[in-house]
Amino acid sequence: MSIDEKVTEAAVALKAADALLVTAGAGMGVDSGLPDFRGTHGFWRAYPVIAKMGLSFEEMANPAWFSENPHLAWAFYGHRLNLYRRTPPHQGFRQLLEIGTAKAAGYFVFTSNVDGHFQKAGFAPERIVECHGSIHHFQCTASCTDEIWDAEGETVNIEERSFRALEPLPRCRNCPALARPNILMFGDWSWLGHRTETQQERLSKWLNELAKSSAKLAVVELGAGSAIPTVRYTSERVVDRLGGTLIRINPREHEVPGSHIGLPFGAATGIQRVCEAYR
Ligand SMILES: [Zn+2]
Repeated sequence: MSIDEKVTEAAVALKAADALLVTAGAGMGVDSGLPDFRGTHGFWRAYPVIAKMGLSFEEMANPAWFSENPHLAWAFYGHRLNLYRRTPPHQGFRQLLEIGTAKAAGYFVFTSNVDGHFQKAGFAPERIVECHGSIHHFQCTASCTDEIWDAEGETVNIEERSFRALEPLPRCRNCPALARPNILMFGDWSWLGHRTETQQERLSKWLNELAKSSAKLAVVELGAGSAIPTVRYTSERVVDRLGGTLIRINPREHEVPGSHIGLPFGAATGIQRVCEAYR
């Protein structure tokens, strides 16, 4: 089957669906111009000071830095917070939202991205699962309580040249300890998962309702690689259980099980192509 034929097939499946599940990985954000952390070189291009220290993304994204070098830890997360706040999500978000909103049984989002861009693009917060948490929510580094709070109004200023966050660093609301983003990091035993668990419960409830009503489901997966496979597994598990069509949009890893549809595009281009055929 040619790529054009696959695009048409994807549009037909999307049109026939009563419900839309959007699953998204890092490739979704890259198309908004957010840095690509895949591979050490992509990460180092975005953070030259961290490159000089020889730290990989996996080594930098570790909660130990909040005690070992809090000004560096907050430079890293504060820079990302500021960047995600000021970057507008690409138009593919809006296009998917339009399709999802028009579905009789509605939509849901499952994303490993911590950038909050689905909310920013207008998706309903109660219809989003952020499986790795959100940079727009903070928690205590000392786990004094299990409170997770909205980081709106919190600011982090960074001295760009030395890549150090300036005082005052974000603090816990309940004790003198530092705050940290409520993001699941590598080697992270103190991440508070209850906000994400509540989101997961809402998704499970929606999926159970779909299963009972035998609504037709389309899953559109965007930019989710096999390196951190949570998003890909979720897409595949859902169509295994409920039926429906998986439309996997990925420039490099677009292979799909069975009769599902893999499209070799970046997220924004893939959505655009399917939407053109959808009309
Ligand atoms: Zn605290």
